[in-house]
Amino acid sequence: MTKRLYREDPYRTEFESQIIERLEIDGKTGLILEETLFYPTSGGQLHDTGLINDVKVIDVIEKDRKIIHIVEKNIIGESGITGKVDWNRRFDHMQQHTGQHILSQSLIRLFNTATVSSYLGNDFSTIDIEKESFSEVEANTAEIEANNWVFKNVLVNILYPDETEALNMPLRKTPPPGKRTRIVNIEGYDHSPCGGTHCSRTGEVGIIKILKWGRMRGNIRLDFYCGQRALADYRNKNCLINTIKSDFSVNEDGIIEKLTKLEEENKDLRKFNSELNLKLIDSKAVELYSEADSVNNVKIIHSVFEDLEIKNLQNIAKKIAENGDSVVILGSSGDKPSFVFLHSGNIDLNLQKILNNQREQFDIKGGGSSSMVQGGLQENSALLDFIKASVDIIYKELQSL
Ligand SMILES: [Zn+2]
Repeated sequence: MTKRLYREDPYRTEFESQIIERLEIDGKTGLILEETLFYPTSGGQLHDTGLINDVKVIDVIEKDRKIIHIVEKNIIGESGITGKVDWNRRFDHMQQHTGQHILSQSLIRLFNTATVSSYLGNDFSTIDIEKESFSEVEANTAEIEANNWVFKNVLVNILYPDETEALNMPLRKTPPPGKRTRIVNIEGYDHSPCGGTHCSRTGEVGIIKILKWGRMRGNIRLDFYCGQRALADYRNKNCLINTIKSDFSVNEDGIIEKLTKLEEENKDLRKFNSELNLKLIDSKAVELYSEADSVNNVKIIHSVFEDLEIKNLQNIAKKIAENGDSVVILGSSGDKPSFVFLHSGNIDLNLQKILNNQREQFDIKGGGSSSMVQGGLQENSALLDFIKASVDIIYKELQSL
C-alpha cells in the first residue's frame, strides 16, 4: 500500500519514490508509487496536480485503497521518480478544507445544526446543513464566529487516538468503526475525523465568507469561500462596484436608489416608445397605401423595414389592409429576417400556396392561411429575393383574375 506522505506534512511539495505498478485507465497511464505526496480525490476534497519527473499529473484517484496517479503520458525507463505537487492548488485546498471544519463547528455551536455533507470544488465549496431555514442574520453570526476562530490563530493538530480515546472526544462526526482514526483537531474548538490536507494554524485559512444559501434536498446548502478565493471574490466585487460608481456617477450608498430610478425611467420610456410606435404604424400604413400600384382594383403594397419585430409588421399590414382591397407584402431585415404577407380577404389569391412553392428555394420557416402567412429566413439577402419574387408572382396572379 502506498505511504501517504501528505498526511504527515501537507506543506511538503517535493519527494522521491519508486513506481511499483503501471496500469492503463481509460486509455491513459496510471502509476502507483511506493509513497506519494499527491492527495487523491476523496472525502469531498479534490486531488492534487503537479509533476512526476517532467510529466503532468492530471488526476489522482483512489481505488481499492490504492492511489493511482493519472499522468499525461507514460514515464519510460527507471522506476525511480521525483514528484512535485502544485503548491498553489494544494494550499487553496488546505484553506477551503480547514475553513469548512471551522464553519461546520460554528453552525453547531450557534444553531445546533450538523453538517450532513460538504464539497470542496474547483470553483465553489458548499456545506449542507440540517436546518429548515437560514437567514441573513444567521449567516452573519456564523461568519463572525468562524472568523473569530481564524483570528485566534489556534493550532490545527492531527491526532491518532485509540478507540477508547476517540470515544471520549467531542467528535463532530462518527468515525468508521474498528480502525485507528485520524482526527483533525482545531485546538479548543473542533474535533473531526478526516483524511484531508489542512493548514497548521487557523490564521492561514484567511477570511471565511458565506456567499449565498438556499434549500437543497431537504437541507440548507451554504456556498462559501476561504482565503485566496475570498480575496479574489472581494477584488472582483470591489472592481464591479467601482465600475458602477464611475459609469453611473454615483457613490456606493446611492447605487440601489440610482438603479431603481433607472428602472422606472426605462419603464416610462418603453411605454412612450410603444405609443410612438403605434402612431408611426398608422402614418406608415396611410403612406404606403396611398403610394401603391393597383392591379384589377387591388392595391399591391410591398416594403422592407429594418429591425422591426414581427408583431409590428403584423400591425402595419393589418392597418394597411383596413383601407380597402389590397395585398400587403412586408419584410424586416436585421438579426432575424422575417416577413408578413396578407390580403384583405375577398381576393382569390392563396398566399399559403405562394409561400409553399418557394419554401425550399429560400429556406423559409413559417406558414399561415390562404389570406395571411408569416415566418422567418436565415439571411437578409434571401429575404429580399423572396419578397421580390413573391411580388412578381402576386402581380401576375392578380392580372389573370
Ligand atoms: Zn478535513
